[in-house]
Amino acid sequence: MKKVVIATKNEGKLREMKQALGHLPVEIVSLADFGALPDAVEDADTFLENARIKARFFMEQTGCACIADDSGLEVAALSGAPGVHSARYAGVHGDDEANNDLLLKELQDVSEPRTARYGCAIVLARPGREDVVTYGSCEGEILRARQGEGGFGYDPLFYSTDLQMTFAEADPEAKNRVSHRSRAIARLMERLEAEGVVIRAGLTPTDFMHLKGDFDAYDTEAARLAARYLLRNMNRDADSDHALALLCNEVYDRVKK
Ligand code: IMP
Repeated sequence: MKKVVIATKNEGKLREMKQALGHLPVEIVSLADFGALPDAVEDADTFLENARIKARFFMEQTGCACIADDSGLEVAALSGAPGVHSARYAGVHGDDEANNDLLLKELQDVSEPRTARYGCAIVLARPGREDVVTYGSCEGEILRARQGEGGFGYDPLFYSTDLQMTFAEADPEAKNRVSHRSRAIARLMERLEAEGVVIRAGLTPTDFMHLKGDFDAYDTEAARLAARYLLRNMNRDADSDHALALLCNEVYDRVKK
């Protein structure tokens, strides 16, 4: 099975990606599986270019397809700062307390609404193929004092427009439903589905080709129905996995309704 490397050492991000990409007919691994690797130099001005630097760098290091993301907070009154410097805004990488203190200080003379946005870019780099690039964002405002204990980074100050509370007050599932990262991941899945890489029923095009009545080998009822429908109706001359995969997804959606 093909390997896809998630370019992160962050366990939380790895888990999130594994969950989202669970249907792919690939083995998901992390940088930790490759032992000591050098760090990528993320010195670009945008989330997208930094994600691309990371994805391409680790694709070259590992020889595998690689998914990387870059994210951060952009505050309108600060012309998009802290932006790509979000993690080290106050000087020390990952010092969330100092970063939030500096943000409050920079905004002390700015009146409401102090609009802000989290942005996340994801790049999938594949040897010999074009990159897949997606972006997700979520809107909010920066409060004058921290609220809530959950989340990380700027979450105690970020009042989400979607949730009407700070991300630090929201439970993780709620944050996950609206977050910049989950939106970027969802778009990555849409793009891969459009390419025919993902089969929503959890089967690969080859699985569908080989089903030939052996429905019991597959465990979801929807997939069995989809396969049954497909075998009755599909064009047996379909010569591309792509067309077949799209058809599988269409059928799966129809039987799921
Ligand atoms: P990275 O993409 O993991 O490098 O994140 C960069 C920085 O952006 C983090 O260190 C946080 O300061 C900030 N950030 C990104 N996503 C979030 C989030 O969901 N909540 C809070 N802060 C975030």
